[in-house]
Amino acid sequence: MADEAIEEALKSGEKLFSRRQIDEAETVFQTILEQVPGHSEALNNMGVIWYTRGDNEKAEKLFSRALDANRDNLEALSNLAELYRSAGRQDKEIECLKKIVVLNSDDYITSSRLALLYVETGEPAKALPHLNASIDLLSAQRPETNDARQLANPNTPEKDLVRGNIKGQSTLDRQTLRHFRDKKFNEIIKTIQSRVQDRLYEDVEAICKHWLVFVSTSTGYIFYFLGLAANGLQEFDKALAYHKRALELDPALADLRNRQSKYRYTYEESPTHCIGCENDGFETVNVLNQSIAEDNKELINPVRQWVRCFRCGLIFANPIPNEEALNRYYSRIAGEKFGGIYGNIEERLDFLADMSRTRLEKIERHGNGAATILDIGAGIGIFTKTALDRGWQAEGIELTPEDCDYAKEKFGLELKQENFYDLSENRKYDVVTLFEVIEHLRHPLKDLKYINTLIHDNGLLVLATPILDSAYGNETKEHNPFWYVVSHLSYFTRNVMINYLREAGFEIVEICDSPEGMGRMEFYCRKST
Ligand SMILES: [Zn+2]
Repeated sequence: MADEAIEEALKSGEKLFSRRQIDEAETVFQTILEQVPGHSEALNNMGVIWYTRGDNEKAEKLFSRALDANRDNLEALSNLAELYRSAGRQDKEIECLKKIVVLNSDDYITSSRLALLYVETGEPAKALPHLNASIDLLSAQRPETNDARQLANPNTPEKDLVRGNIKGQSTLDRQTLRHFRDKKFNEIIKTIQSRVQDRLYEDVEAICKHWLVFVSTSTGYIFYFLGLAANGLQEFDKALAYHKRALELDPALADLRNRQSKYRYTYEESPTHCIGCENDGFETVNVLNQSIAEDNKELINPVRQWVRCFRCGLIFANPIPNEEALNRYYSRIAGEKFGGIYGNIEERLDFLADMSRTRLEKIERHGNGAATILDIGAGIGIFTKTALDRGWQAEGIELTPEDCDYAKEKFGLELKQENFYDLSENRKYDVVTLFEVIEHLRHPLKDLKYINTLIHDNGLLVLATPILDSAYGNETKEHNPFWYVVSHLSYFTRNVMINYLREAGFEIVEICDSPEGMGRMEFYCRKST
């Protein structure tokens, strides 16, 4: 094959690859290699093919052979560097990147990546010249390098070159590097925040690590963001360590909302087995600092670890705040209802009354002439009041004295300040309601079983709770505000809730979205006989 013919073949192979006709492309490159066994570009392209097929070992050999044939083959070097990055082989990646910056002194992205790698491998002194180099390159306002030469990965068919970089990660964009150079720290923080919103957690990590080396190692807020990033990347041990470090460096991060409560290092809390089925096996699903949404009043650990039970699937807080501490927390926040992430309750009275009416209409439809109703966790008594107004014999129980006082003052309502376990078993009701209560209970399954005994045969249980796999929950994922509610101890999926209700002796009559939204759902159930 003449040189021209080989160049033509190379192009046609690259075109085939860009159309994702991988096997056909491979045949073309193989033909070239039969003619010219040491053809560097063809070897590199074969390496890319095997990389996209997930065979790193073969890909590594081919990239190395491409470099044996031509040690200045930048694409092969970049691809090899990316291969080592994805395999976590940092020393090998550094070797490649060092060669790239020698060959291509304009490449600020590689300089910045090299700086980051030195930080990660504990050699910050070596990082500094490369960061300076990348900043100098930026100052010279050179055009973006490598843009058109991003390599094909099977998920991005729109890329049309086989040669070039396999898509690299963890590099800082030009603008962020400029902000570092110009010491525009607020801009950097804003960038981090928007990357968190967009779930670009590797970017967040990269920016934060630059900060630690080139700005300060003791900025609590940066460790807080590293905690968010590690949680987003499901590295939960790291997330926990970062959040603790953030709080040690800046104790006011225990109250991100108001910056009044401080971190207290130790809290009254205990490790627990599953608070529903009492099984011991669980896995962590979320580690976060709750204080961005709610102040923990220095009583509850601002770092919340959510775990999922292997047996029943319930998600619960572990460690769990001790009962005493939580009760003190409830009484501290009782006067502030009236604030927090749910806004001022006074402004929501009409909405809450409307919602109570809608719920009562449903209950009346399913109720077969039911007459008595008990609302557990009645709050300020709006549901109880609405039921009374509609002719029900309604009672509400509520543990928080401030709520009972409010109900009396506002509606002339006598809520009983007692626990439902103190109700004697011969006091039975046609309907028991449990709105936004179960997620606060320390023994949700045991409690449902007990509540069953308070209901007449064929009577109804109605409950509402946030549901993790609701449309809202699926959309918001780790940004879902319910992860941040200090007093919530559990989080149900729809199926876990259904299983719990069945195990407690209920059959489901209707499931619907709660008018309160945010993925809350209502479960209407009948006591099984
Ligand atoms: Zn369980």
